[in-house]
Amino acid sequence: MQVTGLKGVGDKQAEKLAKLGLNKVQDLLFHLPHRYQDKTKITPLDQAIIGQEVLIEATIRQQRLTQGRRPTLLVELEDALGHHVGLRFFHFQASQARQFKRGEQVRAYGELRSGLNGFEIVHPQYKVFSSAPPPLDDTLTPVYPTTEGLGQLTLVKLIKQAIALLKQYPLEEGLNQAWLRTWQLPDINQALLTLHQPQPSDDLAQIKRFEHPAQARLVFEELITQQLTLKLMRQQQVKRYAPQLAASRTANALLASLPFELTQAQQRVWQEIIADLKQTQPMQRLVQGDVGSGKTIIAALAALQAADAGYQVAIMAPTEILAEQHRNHFAEWLDPLGIEMAWLNGRLKAAEKRDMLAKISSGEAKIAVGTHALFQDAVTFERLGLVIIDEQHRFGVHQRLSLNQKAHTDEIENFAPHQLTMTATPIPRTLAMTAYGDLDISVIDELPPGRLPVDTAVLGNQKRHEVMAHLYHACKTGVQAYWVCPLIDESELLDAQAAQTTFDEFRQLWPDMRVGLVHGRLKAAEKELIMQQFKAHELDLLVATTVIEVGVNVPNASLMIIENAERLGLSQLHQLRGRVGRGAKKSHCVLLYQPPLSATAKARLQIMRETNDGFVIAEEDLRIRGPGEVLGTRQTGGMTLRIADIQRDQAWIEPAQDYATQLLEQASPGLVALLQQRWIGEKLEYKHA
Ligand code: ADP
Ligand code: MG
Repeated sequence: MQVTGLKGVGDKQAEKLAKLGLNKVQDLLFHLPHRYQDKTKITPLDQAIIGQEVLIEATIRQQRLTQGRRPTLLVELEDALGHHVGLRFFHFQASQARQFKRGEQVRAYGELRSGLNGFEIVHPQYKVFSSAPPPLDDTLTPVYPTTEGLGQLTLVKLIKQAIALLKQYPLEEGLNQAWLRTWQLPDINQALLTLHQPQPSDDLAQIKRFEHPAQARLVFEELITQQLTLKLMRQQQVKRYAPQLAASRTANALLASLPFELTQAQQRVWQEIIADLKQTQPMQRLVQGDVGSGKTIIAALAALQAADAGYQVAIMAPTEILAEQHRNHFAEWLDPLGIEMAWLNGRLKAAEKRDMLAKISSGEAKIAVGTHALFQDAVTFERLGLVIIDEQHRFGVHQRLSLNQKAHTDEIENFAPHQLTMTATPIPRTLAMTAYGDLDISVIDELPPGRLPVDTAVLGNQKRHEVMAHLYHACKTGVQAYWVCPLIDESELLDAQAAQTTFDEFRQLWPDMRVGLVHGRLKAAEKELIMQQFKAHELDLLVATTVIEVGVNVPNASLMIIENAERLGLSQLHQLRGRVGRGAKKSHCVLLYQPPLSATAKARLQIMRETNDGFVIAEEDLRIRGPGEVLGTRQTGGMTLRIADIQRDQAWIEPAQDYATQLLEQASPGLVALLQQRWIGEKLEYKHA
């Protein structure tokens, strides 16, 4: 039943509810209180603690109106033992003041504070009575997260209606009784009732810590559903057919022509990929490797294996700069081998674009490199066999899956390309299980030999001029440097302006220095030109926004200065810093911050000073910012978690995975559908994948 089926819910109200993700009546049941008020017992005034919300009862002694800039109404109360407390109102109506008659009784609820005239409660909930006291609540009062224009009271009333319906028509149990007993968890209806209407005997402190079995029960069920969904996605993929790609001579030729040898870790991952590509099932592999670990060459090898077997390869990057760079790298490696490439971005001229599209659809281009432009409808491949996605956390799971359609072919039914995704965001194992549960994971856990860790200094802005002097001097001795002006605003425009201002400043100050500027608002061709100039050492210094964060590879650059470093996340700083330390030269990074810096902010920047290890930094970042921020939409495998929190509820992830496996083995489509319907509802779009 939709929420509009409830009393008092029209279209307008439904719209507001939808903002909270509440579309069906059942959704209201899963909208849990974020705290509770205890109005089941009266707290004697001498036992009330400042800062706590209490229900009190006392007699009205007098009321006073204090005049001033802000008139307030103060009602003075006294209990049977002679303790005093005041009720203070900053907003009130005359009729309200008249209610508080001397000698009447008041029952009031609110946070006890210590005011100028002793204890008081500001804007309490209250009832005035003279004879029979109103009855006490027999359950705790839930307080729900709400949104603008939707009052707490309205929400409470609606959820009460939903609960009344629940009592009449209990939800079907989705989990196995034996499991529930093993884990000592309540059934679904009991869990929901407990959380919406906890009894005074329920352990509120336990609920507050989010450790109550009723909460665990819901977390468990939600995580099971998530794991199920990931497994089903995977099963669907596995049922598809992908081309068997035999080991490729061209890939070996490329390997032989490289000026370096693969690291052990690269070799291991490459072997894993070769094994995958030989299968008739589509590969679904994620390669995790810290910045500079050498993922690009692995991608090129895989691409050659597909191209050699007569299939096309799509290579996608999250930004144009990165796509351009990939194109350049691939061209460097593949042109000598006679492999034809096409190149797509959002800003090609119409004629160029037509040309590229034709090359892709005829199959003449074996490799197509681009941004998300590769997803567009106009792009058709003749024989797409492999999709490579770089820095995958920036792409949604839906986009990733939509590429399957691009590989459609009449030759084979249920055809799907192999997929290789690459990310430099190292994430801990349990998180990987939820975020990438549908993928096999390979880790390049080794950097190419000879890499020196980047030395990092953390300096306050008052040192900016010293840093600039040092930079100038270094560039005069042949060093190439980045100067990064990070996001100062949500707006790309202001961001670009900040970089522009710095660029102007430097050019004026150092007319003899070759300074370039890149930011997100430049045309693709301009950006590319500047990157090429920098790479060719025609520029000494590159002033940039965080557009260079991902993937940019100029091995000769060995100095990086990041302004306003305190505004960036640790993982982002790590990515940026990864732009230096790529060559044989010892590299340095300076993190400039705007004082004063809070103790935590300082501690965060210190971590950058102490380690170059992406894993350590990612763990720390996760601890500080939580998985949502760090992983973006990929965090939950495409499913937004309503109650579970991957970090807080980590301990439930493995049991949930086991349970999901068993459930699928038992082949109970009814139960699976029940869980998906309950937790994901209409939002699930994987069906179309
Ligand atoms: P990332 O994993 O960050 O994408 P890249 O693929 O851009 O890293 O590689 C960084 C640099 O290291 C490139 O210049 C690349 O050519 C080089 N490289 C990759 N593998 C090796 C290796 N085994 N030995 C030496 N250099 C390597
Ligand atoms: Mg890369």
